[in-house]
Amino acid sequence: MGLDDEQAAVATDAIKQLALDSGATVVGIAAAGAFNEYVPEGHRPTDFLPGAQSVVVAGSLGPSNAAWQSPNRRLMEITGYDFRENVASLVVAEHIETAHGYQAIQAPALPTSGQHPPMSMMLAAVLSGLGTRSIAANIILNPTYGLLYYAAAITTMPLVPDHQLEDNVCPARSCVKMYEMEGKTPCMAVCPADEGGCIDATIEGGEISSSYFNRERCSTRAMNFGIRGHIKQVELLTAADDIEEAKAVLHSDDFRRNLAAIGRYKESVAQCFECMRVCPVGRYRRNLK
Ligand code: SF4
Ligand code: SF4
Repeated sequence: MGLDDEQAAVATDAIKQLALDSGATVVGIAAAGAFNEYVPEGHRPTDFLPGAQSVVVAGSLGPSNAAWQSPNRRLMEITGYDFRENVASLVVAEHIETAHGYQAIQAPALPTSGQHPPMSMMLAAVLSGLGTRSIAANIILNPTYGLLYYAAAITTMPLVPDHQLEDNVCPARSCVKMYEMEGKTPCMAVCPADEGGCIDATIEGGEISSSYFNRERCSTRAMNFGIRGHIKQVELLTAADDIEEAKAVLHSDDFRRNLAAIGRYKESVAQCFECMRVCPVGRYRRNLK
């Protein structure tokens, strides 16, 4: 027997609270069918769970607020990303199956080849009302927290979906003012496409009228460790002329970092946060004693 509206509302609230109690900073619900308008077959919730009705999206902060202010830039690479949003999405999926008897799976959010994941967590975050796309590397900005990391559970359970945000989070008001005076926003100034960086945009009437993001260039700066880096290291290793050269590769900092990135998924999330470091959205939260 299905849920009536009141039962669905009560269950939705309880599931959201469970996600928050399990480590999520924010949680939202998207209707599974809402994806159809934006992505082709093969990338929709129903492609992974036939009969899917809802997508529960969990977002969490990565590094702590103080990490953003550390004088050691590398701190952001090697601490703070601990998958709380993934834990929350798994707890939610298990709860839906055991407590409500509906099917639920974790959404496939990591790329299996290339750079694109089977299902976009960026789109999931937008459709569930948790944020909007920004000029800076297309990152989804939450109006309260700015940059968050997202995971989701897909379920056949009919839950009450949230609305998409009515107002774009980006550009922030202060960014519009800066753009009007200098022709750039903070993220454009720190990584300008016309000076070897990755970001460019135009703003009209306080809204983004065009934007440009050089993903390939960004990934060579921000995504150096992980499987691709490891392959490069193995190439170096196999091309070594003698045992001493091979040992030099094997014991290098890069070799260790790539293995750490693969084994523990540390150091592989990003090695550049500069566009987000200067973004004003949610930055006031970093001002602590
Ligand atoms: S992550 Fe770094 S390289 Fe990529 S767009 Fe932002 S500032 Fe530029
Ligand atoms: S710095 Fe301003 S323009 Fe850039 S992403 Fe943040 S809000 Fe948007």
